[in-house]
Amino acid sequence: MELRLNRLSKAAPLAGLCLMFSVGLFGQLTKPIASYDLKAALDPKAHMLHGSETLTWLNDSPDSVPVLRFHLYMNAFKNQKSTFMRESGGQLRGDQFGGKEWGWVDVKSMRLENGPDLTRAIQFIQPDDGNKDDQTVIEVPLATPVKPGASIRLNIDFETKLPTVFARTGFHGTFYLAGQWFPKIGVWETAGFRHAQKAGWNCHQFHANSEFFANFGDYSAEITLPSDYKIGATGEMVDKKEDRAKKTTTWTYRQPSVIDFAWTAQPTYLKLERDFVAAREVTPVELARTSKLFGISEDQARLSDVRITLMLQPEHSEQADRYFRAAIAGLKGFGLRFGHYPYRTLTLVDPPFGAGGAGGMEYPTFISCGTGWRMPEDVFLVLEGTTVHEFGHQFFMQLVATNEFEESWMDEGFNTYATTKIMDEVYGPSALPVRIFGIQMAGWFGLPKLTAAAENRLAYSSLPDEDPILRNAWSYANGNSYAVSSYMKTAIFLDTLENLMGPDTMARVMRTYSQRWRFHHPDTLDFLQVVNEVSGRDFTPLFDQFVFHARKLDYKVDAVESRKLETWMGVFDENGKRRTVGVAEASKIDFKASQQKGHKDLYENTVRIRREGDAVLPVDVRIHFVDGSIEKQHWDGIERWVKFKFEKTAKVDWVQIDPLRKHELDVNRTNDSWQDHYPKKLAARWGSQFEFWLQNLVLWMSAFV
Ligand SMILES: [Zn+2]
Repeated sequence: MELRLNRLSKAAPLAGLCLMFSVGLFGQLTKPIASYDLKAALDPKAHMLHGSETLTWLNDSPDSVPVLRFHLYMNAFKNQKSTFMRESGGQLRGDQFGGKEWGWVDVKSMRLENGPDLTRAIQFIQPDDGNKDDQTVIEVPLATPVKPGASIRLNIDFETKLPTVFARTGFHGTFYLAGQWFPKIGVWETAGFRHAQKAGWNCHQFHANSEFFANFGDYSAEITLPSDYKIGATGEMVDKKEDRAKKTTTWTYRQPSVIDFAWTAQPTYLKLERDFVAAREVTPVELARTSKLFGISEDQARLSDVRITLMLQPEHSEQADRYFRAAIAGLKGFGLRFGHYPYRTLTLVDPPFGAGGAGGMEYPTFISCGTGWRMPEDVFLVLEGTTVHEFGHQFFMQLVATNEFEESWMDEGFNTYATTKIMDEVYGPSALPVRIFGIQMAGWFGLPKLTAAAENRLAYSSLPDEDPILRNAWSYANGNSYAVSSYMKTAIFLDTLENLMGPDTMARVMRTYSQRWRFHHPDTLDFLQVVNEVSGRDFTPLFDQFVFHARKLDYKVDAVESRKLETWMGVFDENGKRRTVGVAEASKIDFKASQQKGHKDLYENTVRIRREGDAVLPVDVRIHFVDGSIEKQHWDGIERWVKFKFEKTAKVDWVQIDPLRKHELDVNRTNDSWQDHYPKKLAARWGSQFEFWLQNLVLWMSAFV
């Protein structure tokens, strides 16, 4: 694959705007609910956007809607009293907000088309925490409610001040990444939508650990920049107008059927382009395999071509191929598994040094990645891991548009589960380095390198049961628990689910879920419904224990005893006679003599398995004896412990709980096995020894933060 990529990279055009523009090609993929015509002019001196938007909102519910709610996300960065700043302490994902330049958005005017001015009726509200100083949500009462099935158009003028780069947005020098930059309407949920009890706005405040939620719509944006700036944005560029007098250029982008719009600009960007040509990247064998696995035609399995644009820092020019390769791995890996990526463009952003807070973020058809100065690929695959992960969000939270405020596991965790598979498949073990508090833990000092899957387990086992997987993003115990629960624990949960139902069935579950809910807004129960339907089994108890509750799974070999049955004392009836064996008689029996007559020692073997955690899952146990025989047992795990007894002429050699390693969720694997002769099966156990060592190290280091 790599050789072929290299050949492609030489043939591919590296620069220039050679998209074919034709309005007729901009087909909608789904019914628009909230569509935006955005206009913004950048003032690079003040880092201000002078903007306007025309919002077309369809009330696609059977309810009359009397008020509107909007997100003003940028106000999270207005001052230290915002809910975001209070929760985060001005720090997100290791990035500290310097406070050099704050960010905010002011709604200058809001007017209903052919209707009244609503500006003065706007009120800040705080539906989540009542923090009166938080200005990230506004409510606007309407004189006349929006009737079911009716559309309204609103004209909004706004000014956005971009902060110094922090939490996915802002500026750094002449670099801009504009995310969450315009007033955005919330989601009206009718009763039953995402299992809502009653109708109402779903419009949360901006929280430190939460991302976003929006309806699909058709977006167009006219961005005016100084003419020396290069731009990358959501969707396809359809127009470019230069104003020579003002030395500005207005770029028009369009993208139907997405949930958001972001853009980036910088004069010094290298803007590189390359095509993902599906027929070249996907082999006939892969296509046939996909069609067979999912029971679909090869046409249905086929991927579509995508123009990839890379907005690259000039000092990272040597990393262009790595970015393109990772994007192609994503387009192919996710596309074959979950259905083709239906958009024609994908833009990758490489933020400059010092603007890391703008990296590692996803927007429709537009992702920000991240790299360092000439990082050697064989040690660090941060660039690849980030690019594949951020691309994966095109599926989990973009195409399948879940509520990131309330169900972060369904975007971050589903994506981590899928990204892990693709990284291990494309880049092999060690694809992602283990980094704990910034320190490289594996792959150095002679320690083995880890697969991405093993890294997920490592992080999970450091914090397995602090929170259930499912929580409002701001309700986890802390940022660390949000991260572990939403990303790694979910991946481990889905791995366990996959092991229990088998990989092919799980692949069909994820495919069915992705396809059925594409362009919709499923919730946890919708996913569970697909799991049970496609697998033909009821996994509700599994969800109950790990998604809805924070149970801990840990089985342990508690005790193993092989007692030689030398003699029995007491009164025995033998051949019609009664014989008494007392202490004196027993000591006289010559066992060596009886052995020589072909008699074998008899052992009473007792194996006790204990459930250490409060989670209950049926589990297999395999008991190996020194004569090579094996006893297989199955335990429902309901009681606290179980004892298995075997009277055999051989002692227990070793015991293995969960021998097929189905229970990825078992927090401690070092107590899953027992063996009589320690070094004998050491090789088989070595993996868990290493894990044990790392686990302890993580716990030890956690004590210092
Ligand atoms: Zn993510």
